[in-house]
Amino acid sequence: MLTDYERLAAMNKDHLWHPFTQMKDYNNSDPLIIERGEGIMLYDVQGRAYYDGFSSVWLNVHGHNVPELNQAITEQLGRVAHSTLLGMANVPAIELAEKLVGITPKGLNKVFYSDSGATGVEIAIKMAYQHWHNQGVRGKTKFITMNQAYHGDTIGAVSVGAIPLYHDLFRPMLFPTYVVPYPYAYRHEGGETGAMKATLTALRNLLETCADEIAALIIEPIVQGASGIIVMPPGCLREMAVLCRKHGVLLIADEVATGFGRTGVMFACDLEDVSPDLMVVGKGLTGGYLPVAATLATDEVYRSFYADYQEQKTFFHGHSYTGNPLGCAVALASLKLFEERNMVERVSAKASFVESKLAVLKERPHVGEIRQKGLMIGIELVRDKVSREPYDWSERIGVRTSLRARELGMLTRPLGNVIVFIPPLASSEAELDAMTDILAESILHVTEGG
Ligand SMILES: *Cc1c(COP(=O)(O)O)cnc(C)c1O
Repeated sequence: MLTDYERLAAMNKDHLWHPFTQMKDYNNSDPLIIERGEGIMLYDVQGRAYYDGFSSVWLNVHGHNVPELNQAITEQLGRVAHSTLLGMANVPAIELAEKLVGITPKGLNKVFYSDSGATGVEIAIKMAYQHWHNQGVRGKTKFITMNQAYHGDTIGAVSVGAIPLYHDLFRPMLFPTYVVPYPYAYRHEGGETGAMKATLTALRNLLETCADEIAALIIEPIVQGASGIIVMPPGCLREMAVLCRKHGVLLIADEVATGFGRTGVMFACDLEDVSPDLMVVGKGLTGGYLPVAATLATDEVYRSFYADYQEQKTFFHGHSYTGNPLGCAVALASLKLFEERNMVERVSAKASFVESKLAVLKERPHVGEIRQKGLMIGIELVRDKVSREPYDWSERIGVRTSLRARELGMLTRPLGNVIVFIPPLASSEAELDAMTDILAESILHVTEGG
C-alpha cells in the first residue's frame, strides 16, 4: 500500500513540470508537497511544519489561512466568481481601483488590471509605446532597462530583462533595449557615490543622444530583486526620474516585488517622493492569495488614448481574468488589514530586529554582503571574504543552504549564491527570531562544515 505522500509524489513526477526547475534534479529528490498553511507556517502532507521564510516567493503578507481574507473570498463567491471587465465592470474591481489610486504615488489615477507581474509589465510597455504613437510622435519605440533587471518571464518582460542566465538564450526573439548599469555600490570601486555617478552619467549620455527614440525607462525602484537584492544608493532613483522627465521619456516603476510595505513604506517610490508615469504592482497586492496585478497610469498617459473611436487610439489589450472579482475582493480585504494592523508602520522595527540578529554573520569568513531594505534581505555567500572571490555556480552553495534550512524547518529559495530572506510582513518578533536562527545555522553549516 502506498502512503498518500508516495502516491502524490509519483503523480507529481509523472505529470508536473515545475517553473525555474531542472526536472532531472527535482525528480531525484523527495518533493516537498504542501497541504495547508496557518499564520506564517506551511505544513506538508507528512505533517512537517515550515516557516515560510520567502513569503511563498515574495507574495505573502498577512500569513496563510487568514480568516478575514478567507471570508472576503467566500462572501464574493456567494455573489459571483468571475465576470469580464471587457466593456463592463464589477463591484470589487471598481472599489479596488479607487483604493489603489489612493495609496499609490500622486498622479497615478487610472488602473488597468491583469493577472501577474509579467502581464502588468507587458501592459506598461505597450501603453508607453502606444502613448507616443497616439500623440503622433513617431520614432519613440525603444526602451531603457537596467543591468541585471528582472521583470517577469513573458516575451516583452524578458526583452526588458537583463539576467544573462534567464534571458540571453531568447535574445534573437526579443526587441532590443538600451541598458544602463544598476548602481551596485558593493561591486564599484567608487562605492555608493561612484556607482550612482556611473548610473546617472550613463543615463544622461543616453538621453542626451537618443531620447527621441526612447519611449520609456523601466526600473525596479530602490531594490533590484531577482539579481540578488541590490539596494540603490539614496537619491539615485529621484535623480533618474528627474532625467527622464527632462528628456521626455516615461518612467515605468516595476513595484511588483517592492510594493505593499516590503521596503518599509507602501511603495519603494515613496522613499524618494517619485511619481512614475506608469507603475506595475502584483505579488503582495492580494496579500499573496490570488493572481491579480495592476498597471497604474497617469491622467496624461490615459488621455492620449481617450478619443473618438475612429481615431484608432484604443488600447487593444486584455486578459480573460482581468479584474477578477474574487481576486479584487481579497485585495481589498488585504488592504483593509494593512490599515487596521498598521502593517507598513511596523516593518521598520521588524527590519531593525532582523538586522541586529543577522549581525552575527557579519564577521564570518564566507558571508559577503548582507543587503537589506525593510523586510527584503539578501545574504551573499563568498568563497573568500577578503578577495570577494565567489563560490563557483556548480557548487550550488545557495541551493545547499536552502535545503539545510528546510531540514531545520524554514523554506526559502536562493538567487545563485545569495540567500534570500523575505518573511511575511505579519511575522512576529518571536517568529523572526526563530527564522533568523535557522538562517544563520544553515549558512554556517554549509559554509563552515558540519
Ligand atoms: C516577480 C516579479 C515580476 C514578475 O511577476 P510574476 O507575477 O511572477 O509574473 C516582475 N517584476 C519584478 C520586479 C518581480 O520581482
